[in-house]
Order: sequence, then C-alpha cells, then structure tokens
Amino acid sequence: MTQILIAEDEERIAAFIAKGLHAEGFATSVVATGREAIDLARTGEYALLVLDLGLADMDGLDVLHQLRATGEAVPVIILTARSSVTDTVTGLESGADDYMAKPFRFEELLARVRLRLRTPQQVGEATTLTHGPLQLDLRTRRMKVADHEIDLSAREFALAETFLRHPGHVLSREQLLSQVWGYDFDPGSNVVDVYVRYLRKKLGAAHFDTVRGVGYRLVDATATRSTSQGRHVAPYRGHDAPA
Ligand code: CA
Repeated sequence: MTQILIAEDEERIAAFIAKGLHAEGFATSVVATGREAIDLARTGEYALLVLDLGLADMDGLDVLHQLRATGEAVPVIILTARSSVTDTVTGLESGADDYMAKPFRFEELLARVRLRLRTPQQVGEATTLTHGPLQLDLRTRRMKVADHEIDLSAREFALAETFLRHPGHVLSREQLLSQVWGYDFDPGSNVVDVYVRYLRKKLGAAHFDTVRGVGYRLVDATATRSTSQGRHVAPYRGHDAPA
C-alpha cells in the first residue's frame, strides 16, 4: 500500500486529507511538526509528502530545505494559505514538486498526488467513467445517460464523478461533502441531499440508492439488484427523503 506522509498542524485539515486518501486506498501518517516530518520522510517509507508551510515548530520551507540538502528526493506537495506568488515560487525553487493553495477541494489535491506518484492507475487512467447507462467523460466534462447528453453544473459534475469513481459503495454525506465541497463546508449542511436530488432528477432516480442513516450509493439500475454479499438491495421506490 502506498504510504503518504502528511505534515499539517491543523487537525481538521490533516484529518480531511487523511480520510480522503484512505478512501482512495492510500495509507497515511500524520505529523504536526517539521521535526517529525523530516525524521519520517528520511525513513524512505513514504511515496509522497504533503507539507503545510505553517507548521507549529518550523517553517515548511525549512523542512523542505533540510530534506533536499541531504538528498532526500521524496515528492513534496506544499499546502499553503499564503496566496502570494513569491511563496509559491520560493517553494518550487526549494524543491517542491507542486503546491495547493488553501482552501482546496480534495479532488484537486488527489489529482496532484496521483500526478506526482505516477501510479499505474494514473498512467492508464480511463478518461471516461461508466456505470450501467451512465457515462461521464472527464476530458470533455460531458455526462451521458444511455447516449443522451445531460447538462450538469460544475458541482453536479463533481458529485457525479465521485459516485462513478466508487460505484456500488455506500458514500456517507460527510465523505461526499469533503470530496465535493471541501473541508470548509458546514458538516450539518443538507447540501449533499439537495444535490443528490438534482442528480436524480437529471440522471434518473433509480441510479441512486438512499442508505438510511448513512448516505447514498450509486447502483446500476439496469442490472440485477443484489450485492456481492448476496444481500438483497431494496429497489428505489421514488422517495428521496434524507436517510
Ligand atoms: Ca498550519
């Protein structure tokens, strides 16, 4: 399992990144100080370092300097709340591979992580995600249902993409919120339910199961409705009240 080191002293952001990476099949270690980041990065066990610039004990750029000075070549993605170009340029000159300005959506960070890891999935990654009659072209950003093109807003597209990347998986509201809306969104918000309703209207209600008390699941409405565990999944009956 690919291990990613996260150096971030803000717990909420660290947890947001770790949770998202776990959902994508990565293992993570979270540290809050630059000292620990340097020590762990030097073990050579990490495929990538996500490095916040404002750490508790030292500047992230100093962490980067120290790592590069000793020939540690681990790819580094800098997280910065500092929006100035100077900081970014300094970061890249110091040997960072990429940077993310806070706040960011998880999918944006994930795209950069995949790019830096150059994992086989990334190289061979399909540009079209399909599930049953649903077809989403990531390159042209077009959504089709049984070859019928559907207009989606940017947010609807991001939500549809998240479902199509995890077909058949139960996705919690919290997961969907952090993947599509980012960590700055109020966890008590019902925006996920609202947007699932939009998708049901546009793509067909039967594609999205409500999993009571948890969240939603993308199903192939045209296939036989039983799960791999052999449990029967109740067909969607046209009620879309929040679970
Ligand atoms: Ca910080």
